[in-house]
Amino acid sequence: MKFTTEGLIIKSTNIGESDRVVVVLTKDRGLMSAFVSDARKPKSKNSAATALLSYSSLTVTQSKDTNRITESEVIEAFFDLSSDIMKLGLAQYICELCLGIVPYDDESEDFLRLCLNSLHFIAKDKKDLYAVKALTELRLMVIAGFMPDLVGCRECGTDQDFPLFLDLTGGDMLCNTCKANMETHGAFAELDKTTFAAMRHIVYSDFERLYAFTLPPENARYLSFVTERFVMSQTERKYKTLEFFHSLEVSRLP
Ligand SMILES: [Zn+2]
Repeated sequence: MKFTTEGLIIKSTNIGESDRVVVVLTKDRGLMSAFVSDARKPKSKNSAATALLSYSSLTVTQSKDTNRITESEVIEAFFDLSSDIMKLGLAQYICELCLGIVPYDDESEDFLRLCLNSLHFIAKDKKDLYAVKALTELRLMVIAGFMPDLVGCRECGTDQDFPLFLDLTGGDMLCNTCKANMETHGAFAELDKTTFAAMRHIVYSDFERLYAFTLPPENARYLSFVTERFVMSQTERKYKTLEFFHSLEVSRLP
């Protein structure tokens, strides 16, 4: 069987002398693993379109359980990501997140649309890096079915008694008074007014308005700290690429 799809290459592994195995975040069939013969030969016609972080049109031949990419064309290569190692690090972390949460063989257009938009914002410096990181982490969680409940305190319903506390495991919140008056277990993240407003926007807004918010750099950084803890708590794992991203921060300290 032969079919054509579009997708973002989120993992690329060299096999043997010149071949490659890739994982693609496709538009219409979830994650897809595929083999690319001779992808690393100098004159390979499939080299660029099957490289990590390329968004490409792919022709795939399927036999038994094996997919082979036989023809390909780059739609967007996100070259500007390579201009800055932190941008590249963040892009790779987004790929690793998707590898862990996007299903194989299922509808995946929302995941792909979010990733492509975020990569575009990162590549073109259109938004604070930490704001894009937080937005992508939190919205990926929403699409994957880990949507936090940010309506109000789970005990009394208020959304005005700050700081609010996000229960990182349960995904709901307690207000300042209720948290002080009860014995709580597990990990909570403190949400000031600005962080809470940004999180609500990311969780509840239409996709068309998703990137339309601004935060001062220190708030974006704190938001990113919260969303990252939420991701790790919900997916119950650590991410090598995230550790790499944070190791780059250390080298940038003034
Ligand atoms: Zn309360």
